[in-house]
Amino acid sequence: TDMLAPRMRGVRPSPTAEISDKARALAAAGHAVINLGEGELDFDTPVHVKEAGIEAIRRGETKYTAVAGTAALKAAIRAKLHTENGLLYEDAEIIAGAGAKQLIFNALLATVAAGDEVIVAAPYWVSYPDMVALAEGTVRVVPCREADGWTLRPDALEAAITPRTRWVVLNSPNNPTGAVMSRSDLQALADVLLRHPRVLVLADDIYEHTRHGPAFVTIAEVEPRLKSRTLTVNGVSKTYSMTGWRIGYAAGPAWLIAAMQTLQSQSTSNPSSISQAAAIAALEGGTAFMSEWLALLAERRDLLLAAIDRTPGLACSVPDGAFYAFVNCQGVIGRRTPAGETIRSDLDFAAYLLEEAHVAVIHGAAFGASPYVRIAYAVDLAILREACARIERACAKLM
Ligand code: PLP
Repeated sequence: TDMLAPRMRGVRPSPTAEISDKARALAAAGHAVINLGEGELDFDTPVHVKEAGIEAIRRGETKYTAVAGTAALKAAIRAKLHTENGLLYEDAEIIAGAGAKQLIFNALLATVAAGDEVIVAAPYWVSYPDMVALAEGTVRVVPCREADGWTLRPDALEAAITPRTRWVVLNSPNNPTGAVMSRSDLQALADVLLRHPRVLVLADDIYEHTRHGPAFVTIAEVEPRLKSRTLTVNGVSKTYSMTGWRIGYAAGPAWLIAAMQTLQSQSTSNPSSISQAAAIAALEGGTAFMSEWLALLAERRDLLLAAIDRTPGLACSVPDGAFYAFVNCQGVIGRRTPAGETIRSDLDFAAYLLEEAHVAVIHGAAFGASPYVRIAYAVDLAILREACARIERACAKLM
């Protein structure tokens, strides 16, 4: 309709939400759908965190707070960034919001004008390009290769930077590939960025703790000379299985944080006061539960990778972090389904798996890389085993 603003033209609904809607519709029609499309852990939020939220309600912490978060939450964030990441920030350099998503959106909206470019490495989290579009900027997608371990090459970054470049977005551990950038990977990118002093750096560290082997490092720590133009984004959604509580945080230069706060003050105001109290308990509480979760995730990952290995047409390199396998499905492209349809793309393959196997996965094209599908393995082992068997059977039916 012509009632919509032009800025809506470049924006798609989140493809992951779309698949989930389709999966829910099939489930409502009585099918036993297994959803491996969702980007969240199946674990319950730890009890001490939930109790902190309940206690906050009991204490009457149910009113507006400071827009950028309570002093207590900021203190917890500051301590986290210092002890875990070696980064020291003042209160004026920290903001909490309704998820990392809101903070990334606010940062882009506050800084990107029409014609400005944002460099995003592909495969990418589905929301970055659409957020840039909403800010009326231009996305410059830089493809990464599976053969390079899905990491952004410094020469590719250098080649993508223009006088209009405002941001480079980095995401490690990565959604959807699970790739984790090493200190030397980041240093190589930092060396490029040091030559371009007007480029801002967004480090999306949301999967910091969802990681199997390699150490975690973030770019502002690796290259302190970039800290004054880096926005380090993180949150409690993935680490503490708190996606529904909607708390994320960001730390960066005071001028940027102030602008993000102004935007937030005129849109959503503070993130939920109750969720802030719970997030403090998460950040300050023990992390003993995490090794148990990681052991469960590693077991699931290995089960999935073994099944992919057995399935003709599919292949996957080992993801070191997050809870996704980014599966190469080149081998099923061009094959025919029992219904006589040809699978021409990863979207066709994802649609086939949903219809034939009642397993929901997300097509790689949504993340800017084909032909792949993203399989989230943060579900119960028995459910995952059943999903794998169904995928194997569905693939065996292809001619
Ligand atoms: N960044 C990445 C790479 C993600 O995958 C997600 C969630 O899926 C987010 C940010 C947003 O997380 P939050 O729940 O904190 O908004």
